[in-house]
Amino acid sequence: MTEQLKHFIGGQYVAGKSGRFSPVYNPSTGEHKADVPLATEAEVSDAVADSLAAFPDWANTSPITRARVMFKFKQLVEENIEELAALLASEHGKVHSDAKGSIIRGLEVVEFACGIPHLLKGEFSDNVSSGIDMYSMRKPLGVVAGITPFNFPAMVPMWMFAVAIACGNTFILKPSEKDPSLPMRLGELMLQAGAPKGVLNVINGDKLSVDTLLDDPRVKAISFVGSTPIAKYVYSRAAAAGKRVQAMGGAKNHMLVMPDADMDKAVDALIGAGYGSAGERCMAISVAVAVGDAGDELVEKLAPKVRNLKVGPSAADGDMGPLVTKEHLEKVKGYVDLGIEEGADLVVDGRDLSLQGYENGFYMGGCLFDNVQTDMRIYKEEIFGPVLSVVRAPTFNEAIEMVDKHEFGNGTSIFTRNGDVARAFSNNVEIGMVGVNVPIPVPLAFHSFGGWKNSAFGDHNQHGPEGVRFYTKVKTVTSRWPDSIKAGAEFIMPTHK
Ligand code: NAD
Repeated sequence: MTEQLKHFIGGQYVAGKSGRFSPVYNPSTGEHKADVPLATEAEVSDAVADSLAAFPDWANTSPITRARVMFKFKQLVEENIEELAALLASEHGKVHSDAKGSIIRGLEVVEFACGIPHLLKGEFSDNVSSGIDMYSMRKPLGVVAGITPFNFPAMVPMWMFAVAIACGNTFILKPSEKDPSLPMRLGELMLQAGAPKGVLNVINGDKLSVDTLLDDPRVKAISFVGSTPIAKYVYSRAAAAGKRVQAMGGAKNHMLVMPDADMDKAVDALIGAGYGSAGERCMAISVAVAVGDAGDELVEKLAPKVRNLKVGPSAADGDMGPLVTKEHLEKVKGYVDLGIEEGADLVVDGRDLSLQGYENGFYMGGCLFDNVQTDMRIYKEEIFGPVLSVVRAPTFNEAIEMVDKHEFGNGTSIFTRNGDVARAFSNNVEIGMVGVNVPIPVPLAFHSFGGWKNSAFGDHNQHGPEGVRFYTKVKTVTSRWPDSIKAGAEFIMPTHK
């Protein structure tokens, strides 16, 4: 029988009351493995009330105690990592080792959050005027919420809740309805690590739940990661409701291959960054820009590697697994059909892949296009699948201009041996995260993650010091004691003496 999932609220699993469900699949087999409840407005509102009730005590818990919860949580995730990776892969489809890697990248943010006593230290100025001291501190916001995408059901929630909770906020997670089981396990493990009930609540749902969170005045900040149209919508609706918002969107990441690059290493980088996780990463490289005469050699070397990608069920741990749903598989294949219609050269066609014993899984092989033009939809739009487009640019200047003109600005990289070119690229390109001879330049936990242009809306990046700023507000205190207080009222703006 298909499992019926729940919500995780107030430290326990709670059955959904709406009678509305969304199916959850095992992409490796195509099996309809579970149904996830889609919360009503009232259920979301109750979850907010529960988080609000937990807030005062948690905010008053010392930062070192909060840090100890994060240490314990890290230990518990590590102890259970094989089971967690298998659960993640069973709903997402990424291969086991990649699922594990994504959990570890999330845990790195937890490690960063373990340093919260230091990160929350304020500033102090002694004797700013006679006998007056001034100091500032960072205070938690209250109840904050995170809305996360299907492609990183462990890492992206940890980007958000690890920092938010360590700062003293209580957190409501609304994970993707495509792979909700792992996020709920994280809620359970936080409870086991010592986070009081209600500090991390997980509510499952769709647009209705999201809208309820965006509009509820008790929710003080919204972190969103997902596609650009929804990121824009979330940003404007939550900002209109007076909240802080950070909303990360989609991407089309270009990798420039200069003629002087080590071509074999550039090809290896493109294969991993283009096809790892079946291209379902916001930092996947989906466009290879071959500069000057790099194009022919690049395509010659790429094609056999794309043909030989090991595609299989997540447990087999090949190079890539299936796509997340049948619907998404059809969408990606539709883009390949479109690319042919638009006149690009399909050098490797993976559309017809079928795996013996897994005929109902959502698989396709890697696809490689050459001679893609910048006015084609397959260049302009995010495909989010194992499809790499090679675009040729005669010069470096034309290549960088191409990257700058693209609506998305998440990540980019350059492969070259020329330091001046690399420096010019990293200093000038209109992109938030840049790699030099590094294919996927994802900043580590103690830096911050965020794109530019239509890849991110709001003022603060995810995690790192930016995350601490996002989840806290500054209070500045000016203080003196009776001996310094002068007699008599002052009617003019005080100036410093
Ligand atoms: P999505 O936008 O469909 O969904 C993201 C979240 O928004 C989910 O929780 C979903 O339930 C909710 N949602 C969906 N439609 C909604 C609506 N109409 N109103 C309110 N909420 C809605 O994204 P996805 O398909 O789950 O994830 C893939 C996308 O996420 C890709 O575009 C990818 O580039 C992007 N992504 C970006 C980053 C980044 O940091 N920039 C990281 C990971 C993924």
